[in-house]
Amino acid sequence: MKTKQPIDAFARDLPPEIRESVYVGSKAKYDKRLDSLTQSFAAPDDIRKLAGQIKQHTLENLPEYLGSAIEKLEGNGAKVHYAKTGDDANQIILDIMRSVNATKLIKSKSMVSEEIHLNKFLEKNGCESIESDLGEFIVQLDDDMPSHIVTPIVHKNRKQIANTFEKAGLGDYNDDPQTITRRARSFLRNKYIEAEVGLTGGNFVSAETGRIALVTNEGNARFCISANKTHIALIGIEKVVPRDKDLAVLLNLLARSATGQQLTVYTQFINGPKSEAQPDGPENMHVIFLDNERSNILGSEFKEILRCIRCGACLNVCPIYRQSSGHAYRAVYPGPVGAVLSPLLAGKRYPEYADLPKASSLCGACNEVCPVDIPLPELLLRHRNKAKREGIKKASAGTPSMAGWSVLCSTPAMWKTSLRAGKAMDYISLNLIPVPAVQAWAKERSLPPFRGGKFRKWFKDRQKNK
Ligand code: SF4
Repeated sequence: MKTKQPIDAFARDLPPEIRESVYVGSKAKYDKRLDSLTQSFAAPDDIRKLAGQIKQHTLENLPEYLGSAIEKLEGNGAKVHYAKTGDDANQIILDIMRSVNATKLIKSKSMVSEEIHLNKFLEKNGCESIESDLGEFIVQLDDDMPSHIVTPIVHKNRKQIANTFEKAGLGDYNDDPQTITRRARSFLRNKYIEAEVGLTGGNFVSAETGRIALVTNEGNARFCISANKTHIALIGIEKVVPRDKDLAVLLNLLARSATGQQLTVYTQFINGPKSEAQPDGPENMHVIFLDNERSNILGSEFKEILRCIRCGACLNVCPIYRQSSGHAYRAVYPGPVGAVLSPLLAGKRYPEYADLPKASSLCGACNEVCPVDIPLPELLLRHRNKAKREGIKKASAGTPSMAGWSVLCSTPAMWKTSLRAGKAMDYISLNLIPVPAVQAWAKERSLPPFRGGKFRKWFKDRQKNK
């Protein structure tokens, strides 16, 4: 589902069944996260703060830790590449495939590969690229976009998925979840065997050992790198952590924050390609570190967003995300993290996404659940200031001017008149007021019944009765 609409207009038009799926799916994850964290830790907040400090320390010293990770990876037998842009990363992947005469790639879930639109790029260049994570596979069959970082099809119910499978020729309509997964499994098993290259992401990379930590719940990443000769790991430069033992903190928080599990079902540590000491695995391993604006973010007032470990907890708790779904954010990363990150990753196209940080009530819930304690509300406010400084005007139709609002609030006579007018609005349709800004505003919204105007009387009576 692709849209250019602003978030509020998109949310207004969202079919009720999608809103229901997103709300139920995200709330369930939020509840499980809370139970899991409070049952496991006496002071979950202290661990969040520690994880935030580990990630922030890494960012402050990123060149040093990245250098160390590259040295260790190369020492372990991997070939390391640096991609400045998404296009560079795509080209490097294509070049690797051509170097081993490959035209078929199978991949596990990787938000970075979504960010660079890898599948479309490979298809255009005559290569097949198949998603092996079930949710991502369904997104691919539908030519859709993921609407959540962790659960890409949170917006779909099983009837819609059964329709997708039927259209894709994977059997007659059947919405039994076991049948759906069995059909996906039997289709994908062949794809694992046919593929010449397997691509994964990487949740963390240890600068101490070059070890890549990779988590999945379906075990598909293992298959991606077991059945073929070449493994490519595509990883954002911010995924480095100083030591192996830091993984104990971060993996504990990632699983609980993402899905409420104690530990993700499959947690792999990949040291390098196969060797005498490690006879199983691919013959070649390539690690691509992707920058794609991350260095610029690191030098900006938004650098804390690079602590993100892509758990999705801020999406699950966000009242705006729950009502609007991930597609409303018009970019790969939705929810509060996306509202901060997407305008930054857009580079020169920043103004196109400058309205996203306004889609927040600034309630602070996203910061409270973030396992690496990112000050998301603060970053959203910094974005709003930046847009104002740079004169970017991208507001929904009819958004009232704050200067006008300020005059209204600070002039008692005008305020009293507006209260009287407010009462009258119960009987008048806004569409009938011949002011274009009012009509544009009314097109997007409806007014609730007026309930104000009683405070002054209440206060006067209270003074009298004292
Ligand atoms: S910003 Fe925090 S809560 Fe949101 S996805 Fe990233 S790590 Fe998770």
